[in-house]
Amino acid sequence: MAEPDHAPTRIHLTFDLPPKAAADLAASGHPTTSTADVDGSKEDRRQALVAAAPGASAIIATVSDLVDAEVMDAAGPGLRVIANYGVGYDNIDVAAAHDRGIVVTNTPGVLDEATADLAFALLLAGARRVVEADRFVRSGAEWSWEPDFFVGLDVSAGATLGIVGLGRIGFAVARRAAAFGMRIVATGSRASSSEAAALGVTPVELPELLATSDVVTLHCPLTPETHHLIGAPQFAAMKSSALLVNTSRGAVVDEDALLEALLEGTIGGAALDVYEHEPRVTAGLLALPNVITAPHIGSAGIATRERMGAVAVENALAVLGGATAPNPV
Ligand code: NAP
Repeated sequence: MAEPDHAPTRIHLTFDLPPKAAADLAASGHPTTSTADVDGSKEDRRQALVAAAPGASAIIATVSDLVDAEVMDAAGPGLRVIANYGVGYDNIDVAAAHDRGIVVTNTPGVLDEATADLAFALLLAGARRVVEADRFVRSGAEWSWEPDFFVGLDVSAGATLGIVGLGRIGFAVARRAAAFGMRIVATGSRASSSEAAALGVTPVELPELLATSDVVTLHCPLTPETHHLIGAPQFAAMKSSALLVNTSRGAVVDEDALLEALLEGTIGGAALDVYEHEPRVTAGLLALPNVITAPHIGSAGIATRERMGAVAVENALAVLGGATAPNPV
């Protein structure tokens, strides 16, 4: 095996990498430490990271790890890179990292299709009440085919999809929606691009998107600007039959206002992969038949997770080797 072209420095991992990415990292010659076996709350994970960080040159973390200034200061001045295993990086205090000269990286692009698949699975399941119907059959209740039995939204008969944030994942969702014959409206600077026009996307502002969409799907990052982007006024602006799909970040939605909107019949339903106080879900949502819940599995394809691991490792090793990270944020 070739000698590593750098001084081996310690890389700390908060999780077990998929096999190929783990092999790539092992081949780099860098010693590693891990807090993958720490169970418990995000605060428990953060405390474990604070305890394990001293002396680490790189931290490879997931979106469940809060990597704040305390973690960075615990690591000390040798910490050069925080490589996030995910495209969203709202779990990292990026400003604190940059103040300390630490590079932050993410894994854009490699999870677009998997996340769009999950968003579309939630869309179809919510529109056609698949989870509710499954629960009904399992209940053992008597039934027979009836004209109005479990009727739902006709997705392919020109239903309108509103994509909030037509970025990488938003585009992947738009391609699926176009194939289903949906009318597509979207926000985001790329909604006016020729690529969007080719998919039949109409660029609109958020109020028009909310008022005209049968399904609203969220694909913007969580930032101070998008925190509670969808709250009580936005639900009031939506169709009373509308389905909200959220595979972005939980806090983009005011979850208390969502529960209220569902209880009041302000909107028709919600299909969620992410939660404002993840992993806790607002009490009440779980009791509603028109709510579908998934445990933040947007990118959970086997090959996708390998690619995310490879990209995270590639970024960490690039910085430690003195090169420019491929995916800095
Ligand atoms: P991206 O390519 O950067 O696209 C983000 C889109 O959001 C862009 O269209 C952007 O518009 C728009 N946006 C930014 N700020 C906005 C605002 N204030 N209001 C409305 N739209 C705004 O990102 P991506 O790779 O598609 O990922 C999007 C997000 O999905 C990630 O940040 C992550 O949180 C989430 N995600 C979740 C999972 C999961 O497991 N559930 C998996 C992967 C990603 P402009 O083009 O105008 O900037």
